[in-house]
Amino acid sequence: MGKLALHWKILIAMALGVIWSLISGAYGLNGFTTNWIDPFGTIFINILKFIAIPLVLFSIVTGVAGLGDPSQLGRIGAKTLGLYLITTVFSVSIGLLIVNIFVPGNNSNESTRISHRLEYEVWANSNNIEIKDGRNEMANSGEKELEEIRMKLQSDMDSDEYKTMSAKNSQKDASKKQGPLQPLVDMVPSNIVQALGNGKLMLQVIFFALFFGVAIIMMPKEKTASVLSFFSNMNEIFIKMVHMIMNFAPFFVFCLMAGVLAKSADTLSELMDVFVQLGFYALIVFGGLMVMLFGFYPLMLKVFGVKIGYREFFRGISPAQFLAFSTSSSAATLPVTIECVNKNLKVPEKVSDFVLPIGATVNMDGTSLYQAVAVIFLAQYHDVDLSMMQQLGIVATATLASIGAAAVPSAGLIMLMIVLDSIGLNPLWVAIVFPVDRILDMCRTVINVTSDATVSAIIAKSEKLMD
Ligand code: ASP
Repeated sequence: MGKLALHWKILIAMALGVIWSLISGAYGLNGFTTNWIDPFGTIFINILKFIAIPLVLFSIVTGVAGLGDPSQLGRIGAKTLGLYLITTVFSVSIGLLIVNIFVPGNNSNESTRISHRLEYEVWANSNNIEIKDGRNEMANSGEKELEEIRMKLQSDMDSDEYKTMSAKNSQKDASKKQGPLQPLVDMVPSNIVQALGNGKLMLQVIFFALFFGVAIIMMPKEKTASVLSFFSNMNEIFIKMVHMIMNFAPFFVFCLMAGVLAKSADTLSELMDVFVQLGFYALIVFGGLMVMLFGFYPLMLKVFGVKIGYREFFRGISPAQFLAFSTSSSAATLPVTIECVNKNLKVPEKVSDFVLPIGATVNMDGTSLYQAVAVIFLAQYHDVDLSMMQQLGIVATATLASIGAAAVPSAGLIMLMIVLDSIGLNPLWVAIVFPVDRILDMCRTVINVTSDATVSAIIAKSEKLMD
C-alpha cells in the first residue's frame, strides 16, 4: 500500500467512501457518518482553501517577477488569456451542439410540456418579459388551468428558497444599475487586506499580485532581491504545507465522499425519481465533458506540439483530477495542480506559477459547457424555442459567467441564474437541475482543472521552456 501511487490511493478511498455510505444508509449509521466522519472532509477543504489564497498571491508575484522582463510578461499574459478564452468558447459550443442534437428536455408528454410552457408564459407576463419565440399557448387554454398555474407559482414564490434567490437577484439588479463597467470596477481592490480575507475576491488578489510583480520587474534588482526571495520562499513553504496535507489525502477524501453521500441519503428514493427525469440531461453534460477531457485537450497538446504522451498526460495530472472530483473546487485543488504540472508534466515554475492561479479563477471550460447545456435543457423542458441569436447570446454570457464564477463548489449553479436571466428565462428554474448538480459539479471541476494544466503546458512549450 505504501508504494501505491497517490492517485490510486485516492481512488480507492473514494470507492471506500461510497461503500461506507451504502453501509451507513442500510444500518442507520448516517447520523454517525455526518457527526464523526464528515467533519474531517470539511477540515480538509478548509485547509486547502486557506492555503489557496496566499498561494495565489505568492505564486503570481514570484511568477511575474521571475519572468524578469516586461515584454515576456506581456507576451505570456496575452497568450494565457487568449488560450483560456478559446478553450472556453469551444467548450460552450460543444455544449450547445450536443444539447441541440439530443434534445434532452423534450422527454415529457405533451400535456406536461404545455403546462410547463404555460408556467413560463405566466411568469414572463407577470415580469413584463417579452416572449420571443412568437408562440403563445395561453389563448387556447382553459381559465381553470391557468388559475392553477398561477396559484402554484404564488406558492413557489412564498417559499424560503424563492426569497433567498430573489434577494440574490435584487442584489444583482442593483449592481446592473451601476453600469456595464461594474465587473471591471469589481476587479480592482480598494483594500487589499479585505480582498485577501474574502475567498470571493480572488480576482482582486490576482490584480494586486500582477501589479506588485510588475512593479518589482520595473525596479533595480538590488532593491527588490530581498522582497523577491521572501515571496519565493513563502511560496515554497505553502507548497510544502500542501505536500504534508496530501500525504493524508486518501483519508480525507474517504471522509468527504462518505459525508456528502450520507447527507443526501435521506432523500435517496426521492432523488432516484428525479434522477430518471434528469438522467438524460446529466448524461449529455457528462458526455460533453468527456469529449473535452479525452478528445479536445489531448488534441490541443498535439496541435501545439507539446511532446507529452496521452497516458503520460493523464497519469501526470490525475492526482489533481481526483482531488478536483472529490472537492468540487478548483481553488482548493490549485496547490496540487501546480505540483502535478511542475513535477509530472515538467512545466517550469515560472510558467505554472503565473498561468495556473489565474486559470483556476477565470478558466472554467467545464462550468461553461454545463451552463450552455443546462440553459437549453431548461428551455426545451418549458417548450421554449430559442432563436439562433439567443443561442449565440448564451455563448457570450456562459463564457462571462464562467469567468465570473468563483472556484468553489456550486458557483456555476449560482451563475446559471444570471445566464437564464440574461435571455429572459426564469432564474428560479435552477431548482429543477439542482438535484443532480453536485455530481455534475464534481465532473465539471475535473475539466476546469485539466484545461488549466493543458494551457500551462502549451505556453511553456511555446516559450521553449520545456525539455
Ligand atoms: N466547482 C467549480 C470549480 O471550482 C465551479 C462550478 O462550476 O461550480 O471549478
